[in-house]
Amino acid sequence: MNLKNSIRTISDWPKPGIMFRDITSLLQNPEAFKQCCDELYERYKDVKIDAIAGIESRGFIFGSVLAYKLGVSFVLIRKPGKLPGEIEREEYDLEYGSDAIEIHKDAIKKGDKVLVVDDLIATGGTVCAAVNLVRKLGGEVIECAFIIDLPDLKGKDKLDCPVFTMIEFEGN
Ligand code: AMP
Repeated sequence: MNLKNSIRTISDWPKPGIMFRDITSLLQNPEAFKQCCDELYERYKDVKIDAIAGIESRGFIFGSVLAYKLGVSFVLIRKPGKLPGEIEREEYDLEYGSDAIEIHKDAIKKGDKVLVVDDLIATGGTVCAAVNLVRKLGGEVIECAFIIDLPDLKGKDKLDCPVFTMIEFEGN
């Protein structure tokens, strides 16, 4: 089936001018969700990976399924103030202002090979911060995987590691 058709677009959300690519419609379609997870599994099943780091919150959905299928650990990269243990923090710039993400310091060991997963790459700011967090803990980011790329925003150009994306949408 055509995965792209299973993702609905909501215009002007969360603010005017944004075309929100909504994966809840993909998740509500069991065939599409399975195809998506199977495609990720096929790509990584023979790759040496120690941990998958999922970015809150939609990265948790695809990342945790993949971690289960691969039999590797799953690590949460969360918005500030959500993780109870000792954390490492990384700030990043938004169009207006800044944001931050956090990871548990003991979530990744030095030398671990880590796959970073999120649903979508737009400007690339969030995933760059996630990559920095993994590296701060001594992890090696082997690739970043996304279901959706917005190529016009050139997020991939910000990353200095391999990137895998499954579907492209023009515009922002
Ligand atoms: P960025 O840091 O600009 O690459 O933004 C990526 C994060 O914001 C991801 O976690 C996405 O889920 C979310 N995001 C950004 N733009 C969109 C969009 N047009 N539709 C859906 N999610 C988006």
